[in-house]
Amino acid sequence: MSGQPGLFLDRDGVINHYIVESVRSPEQFSYYDGTPDAMKLLGQLDCPIVVVTNQSAIGRGWTDPGQVDEIHHRLCQDALSWGATISSVEYCPHLPDEGCACRKPGTQMFERAARTHGIDLASSVMVGDSPCDMEAAERLDMTRILVATGRGESASCASLEVDARVVDLEEAARWIQQHRKMG
Ligand SMILES: [Mg+2]
Ligand SMILES: [Zn+2]
Repeated sequence: MSGQPGLFLDRDGVINHYIVESVRSPEQFSYYDGTPDAMKLLGQLDCPIVVVTNQSAIGRGWTDPGQVDEIHHRLCQDALSWGATISSVEYCPHLPDEGCACRKPGTQMFERAARTHGIDLASSVMVGDSPCDMEAAERLDMTRILVATGRGESASCASLEVDARVVDLEEAARWIQQHRKMG
């Protein structure tokens, strides 16, 4: 193993409310009630925190990088105020059929963050609400935690093989504290 364990979080449906037609503006970006406490717990794990998010809404022209950057700036500031430092936010702006290497379940966003922050992916954890999150994590041999928020309770997630199924990000944080040696 080279590097330290990292904590990877999906955004929509994990940190903030999932919207079927995509979160398109800072005004539509709203946290789950448990997110502040979850971030506080995750901050105590003392390992790099990376947000990895598919944002095809950019490729579709529903939003633009400026709005997405504004959302992520706010997210990083809020997380800091709750006690968690987000090392970076990685996003894929492409459409599903563009065949890019970054859109999850592609692994490029994870690999880029791992290089930047000295993270060992195989000892890292992914928290997500959709099959693409769990599949990317599986490809990288990461620990897979599926939340029931967002798309986590949809039929597409029912048969997924994961390491833990939890209610939300806060329970994910507690599971990681109990089961994984991070940092
Ligand atoms: Mg999601
Ligand atoms: Zn991409």
